Amino acid sequence: MPEGAVVHRGTVEDAAQVLRGRTVTALTGAGVSTDSGIPDYRSPDSPPRNPMTYQQFVGDEAFRRHYWARNHVGWQHVDRTQPNAGHRALATLEERGVLRGLITQNVDLLHEDAGSRRVIDLHGRYDRVICLQCGRVISRAHLAQRLDELNPHFLEEVLSGGLTVADIEVAPDADAVIEQTSHFNPAPCEFCGGVLKPEIVYFGESVPRERVERAYAMVDDAGALLVAGTSLTVMSGLRFVRHAAKTGKPIVIVNRGETRGDPLATVKVEAGVTETLTALVDLLTR
Ligand SMILES: [Zn+2]
Repeated sequence: MPEGAVVHRGTVEDAAQVLRGRTVTALTGAGVSTDSGIPDYRSPDSPPRNPMTYQQFVGDEAFRRHYWARNHVGWQHVDRTQPNAGHRALATLEERGVLRGLITQNVDLLHEDAGSRRVIDLHGRYDRVICLQCGRVISRAHLAQRLDELNPHFLEEVLSGGLTVADIEVAPDADAVIEQTSHFNPAPCEFCGGVLKPEIVYFGESVPRERVERAYAMVDDAGALLVAGTSLTVMSGLRFVRHAAKTGKPIVIVNRGETRGDPLATVKVEAGVTETLTALVDLLTR
């Protein structure tokens, strides 16, 4: 945060006062999904973790093997995850005509599951896989079938080794996991033999231009911006906060812990995301 920047801290009532009578676009991050059991690697109490980069994925076959092995276990965890009251609060705000739309940095689709309709999945979605060579997109569920065929006993072996799905997701670099993934057989594209990648934007990769343009338009479409559950560490999300500030729109940030957008916030609510969003619905729709 720049030295001397003033952060306007406030309560949920202060936030409601800013948003009342305005249409709102929301920008959400990992903090919205932590109460659904999806770990937020950037929250203040999380262990430091090196995120995978696009370059690693594309350039290193052993890394890809390890990645797909972990993903084969981990994606089912995400697939079984349920939206929480925070996701439902945002869906309700849309239903009541307060929220114009939602831009999310999450790939878990929990906003869609909760009933949000106008959602831009800025960083992609976990349930799709794309071929880096021919560009064809297949479903993650279809790939799961192929991976099961290519690695018939893998899941049993990994899970019988005392590891749980949660261990594998939470401790991606654990030696035990790497040891068990060295023989994993990742599937090539069934159409052209190319390398498959989850349709997720990784570090070192850019968000497709068309998607960025739609997100800017969604910010422009509303009278205020509500940011929830993200520290805005990456420019990918921060740019929309800067855009809202530049165009004179009030900004409410709900996040436990500092964010890079704090100096631009009209009100910063330093509290849990789920309870704050739930309280906001009561205040804005009664
Ligand atoms: Zn292909």
